[in-house]
Amino acid sequence: MVDADGHADLDAGDFSTWLTGMQAALHGNGGSDVPCDGCTACCTSSQFVFIEPDESDALAHIPAALLFPAPRRPRGHVVLGYDDRGHCPMLVDGRCSIYEHRPRACRTYDCRVFPAAGIDADQPAIARRARRWRFTYAAPADHDRHEAVRGAIVSLRERHDHATATELAVRAVSSAS
Ligand code: SF4
Ligand code: SF4
Repeated sequence: MVDADGHADLDAGDFSTWLTGMQAALHGNGGSDVPCDGCTACCTSSQFVFIEPDESDALAHIPAALLFPAPRRPRGHVVLGYDDRGHCPMLVDGRCSIYEHRPRACRTYDCRVFPAAGIDADQPAIARRARRWRFTYAAPADHDRHEAVRGAIVSLRERHDHATATELAVRAVSSAS
């Protein structure tokens, strides 16, 4: 299928395999493995990157002048902001200049959480990209598993009415069985 901008569907992989890997990444075991294929939407969408105090490698590779105390978080938690175009300042010539040292938030980001949860990202460029993913299902039970993740969004919205789309999608994926 092709979207309104002429962009084709993207293979998101087998849903259950992806879900298992994504849940492991969200629980601190490994990173996400998104076939971004040149897309930089999440580095150019006016997003703050939260960095925790234990991320010494990332912190050592980001100029201190680009880091600010993270609001409503304990001392030592910082955010990496964005420039007046909404681009992360570590994005240089369309590539992450600290890729091997990038923050945990970047390592675990995967825009397939949105189609997994059946909702759109708040950021238009990420939403456009995320709408193109198509999961495959090895067995009918995997379809049911995906429906359960989508179904969880309704009650999550009721309980967390100020949550961002990312927070809702991550919660739905993280808590899926
Ligand atoms: S929006 Fe998705 S595909 Fe694009 S850079 Fe971010 S994670 Fe990769
Ligand atoms: S640190 Fe790198 S991966 Fe993370 S938002 Fe910036 S450019 Fe993108």
